[in-house]
Amino acid sequence: MIKNVTVIGAGTMGNGIAQVFAQNKFRVALVDISKDSLQRGMANIEKNLERMIAKGALQGSDKEEALKHINTTTEMKSVVSGADLVVEAASENLAIKLGIFEELDRICPPDIILATNTSSISITRIAASTSRPDRVIGMHFMNPVPIMKLVEVIRGYSTSDEVTSIIMGLSEKLGKTPTEVNDFPGFVANRILMPMINEAIEALFHGVGGVNEIDTVMKLGMAHPMGPLQLADFIGLDVCLSILNVMHNGFKNPKYAPCPLLINMVTAGKLGVKSGEGFYDYSESRKAEKVSAQFSG
Ligand code: NAD
Repeated sequence: MIKNVTVIGAGTMGNGIAQVFAQNKFRVALVDISKDSLQRGMANIEKNLERMIAKGALQGSDKEEALKHINTTTEMKSVVSGADLVVEAASENLAIKLGIFEELDRICPPDIILATNTSSISITRIAASTSRPDRVIGMHFMNPVPIMKLVEVIRGYSTSDEVTSIIMGLSEKLGKTPTEVNDFPGFVANRILMPMINEAIEALFHGVGGVNEIDTVMKLGMAHPMGPLQLADFIGLDVCLSILNVMHNGFKNPKYAPCPLLINMVTAGKLGVKSGEGFYDYSESRKAEKVSAQFSG
């Protein structure tokens, strides 16, 4: 039975994952190598809970209760020995993830489940860096985690039926709808989403339309709640680039090659909402808030 959860990475996804577990009364240890990230992550959780109270979706006491369920630390070793489940949500970078899973394998008890929130990196590859590939699984939450219903559950080559069924059941306990898929680059969600985002950036790059025009066509023409360029800003342009690179390398198919404009923007540090600028300008904090409010709609 899962009671104690360690979430590794307190960024865009990690703090949302910690919030959802805490709201469902799991004990959560939120780990990051950066103290700043931990502070920003906890501030974000507080803000989200307050927004839910303002909307009448939560009571005031629920906020304190949820916050009490989360501890933060920069020392992974100090918390994972007591965990039943680890959900890794660190940066989308193979070397970082392999480093984390090799260490988890060294320090975790054998029956713990090791899940990764990776958007595209092979679960089988991550699992192979451990001595227990049957207990490694993809648990891919969507952004923003407290709002979005889907959890894409990805079975690696060796993931056991038992672990898959525990993670499917757990996702339902969190109020989510899990969907089981197999382990190929980008899985299902990003294999379909990222080519669309990349094509929107190509359309901008080739001057087919401006940022607003491209997003308006997709919002009003296709009934998407957010245009692809705004969504890319929200996901993080660095995350989008990493996912496209994984799919491009994994399938060796030029259709996944990231647009040069995306590469330039990431190189220039324009990462979207999290850096204050991407396709849109978020330099005033209110603008960034407006975007998330619209998305959570
Ligand atoms: P992010 O850049 O917002 O946050 C990553 C965090 O990981 C940072 O706080 C960083 O300090 C921390 N970190 C880096 N190395 C670490 C280590 N060794 N130990 C502990 N913490 C470490 O990234 P994100 O957008 O939250 O993405 C996290 C994961 O979730 C990625 O695998 C990404 O592909 C996936 N994901 C992202 C989205 C999205 O919309 N952004 C959606 C679904 C899944």
